Amino acid sequence: MSLSSRRPEKARIIARSPEARQAAWQRAVADSIRDTSQLFDLLRLEPAGLAAATAAADRFACRLPRRLLDGIATGTAGDPVLRQFLPSGAELEAHEGYTTDPVGDLEAARAAGLLRKYAGRALLITTGACAVHCRYCFRRHFPYAEQHAGRDSWDGALDVLAHATEISEVILSGGDPLMLDDERLAELWRLLAAIPHIRRLRVHTRMPVVIPDRVTAGLLRLLAAPRFATSVVVHVNHSNELAEDAAAALQRLRRAGIGVLNQSVLLRGVNDDTETLCALSEELFAAGVLPYYLHQLDPVAGAAHFAVGEQEAVALVRAMRNRLPGYLVPRLVREVPGASAKEVLAG
Ligand SMILES: *Cc1c(COP(=O)(O)O)cnc(C)c1O
Ligand code: SF4
Repeated sequence: MSLSSRRPEKARIIARSPEARQAAWQRAVADSIRDTSQLFDLLRLEPAGLAAATAAADRFACRLPRRLLDGIATGTAGDPVLRQFLPSGAELEAHEGYTTDPVGDLEAARAAGLLRKYAGRALLITTGACAVHCRYCFRRHFPYAEQHAGRDSWDGALDVLAHATEISEVILSGGDPLMLDDERLAELWRLLAAIPHIRRLRVHTRMPVVIPDRVTAGLLRLLAAPRFATSVVVHVNHSNELAEDAAAALQRLRRAGIGVLNQSVLLRGVNDDTETLCALSEELFAAGVLPYYLHQLDPVAGAAHFAVGEQEAVALVRAMRNRLPGYLVPRLVREVPGASAKEVLAG
């Protein structure tokens, strides 16, 4: 239908309506920074690094929500928040042992988007999309297009789950499952609710912290629904990520009765010192979140510059033990391809 055949004021309303229907969080996603030269401009970064950053972003796109800039120092490529999202020339280097599928995801894929590695739990890749692109992401080379259980292909994954009576917990992962809107999530909840042996749902997401508006009233109702014991595992690596609005979003989840845990990745130049790790634990707890895991970096191609050696990692977590109550010390873990659980190194 042609809009030009309508009266002008009506055409204007129609043209505006898809935008008006978008929730604030969806507008924040759409408005995120994807262009390296814009990022360099906004943060007044040294232009000499731009060509390499752009080449790195051609391999794995640059992406971060605009509000994160408020917590980043200008002119500082090494800022601990920015370092996680800034494409850099170091990603283009090849390193022995760093591969495109470091944790054996392709091996564990049993149906479209379903990963079964650990007893009693299955991980459902709900979408390939994320609101931020973390440069060290272990799925930066994962073939999402084939593997995520999208709207048309949940059937295969649900069918496997329905027959796997030993599975009592489904972990929604991605990508970021909270990139799906409340309606899609409600549909997924309804389909999972029909499988009686599934008792727990877990949502692995970075959204409450990177786009706090994502914690809508509708989402809280869904997560608090009594059919499942539901937990949310967020991903925060530095206390600078816990701005007031992010902490408030985490508090809303807690007040709705949802267990909120955090997993971090130990990253060179971001959180590789005791002081930073202790501050992170304390700020998380102030927002109602318990530290769960501190992951050793998975050796994914393009992320070698983030690696912290195992001895150093163990020493860092031991030092945390000397400074904090036990419940604020995360378990230092490593993913071992093919193993039946994550390997605990300390904590
Ligand atoms: C980490 C992980 C889990 C969950 O492990 P927990 O120790 O229960 O947090 C489940 N499936 C996969 C594939 C994982 O990588
Ligand atoms: S939010 Fe998680 S899945 Fe998405 S890019 Fe970051 S680490 Fe990867």
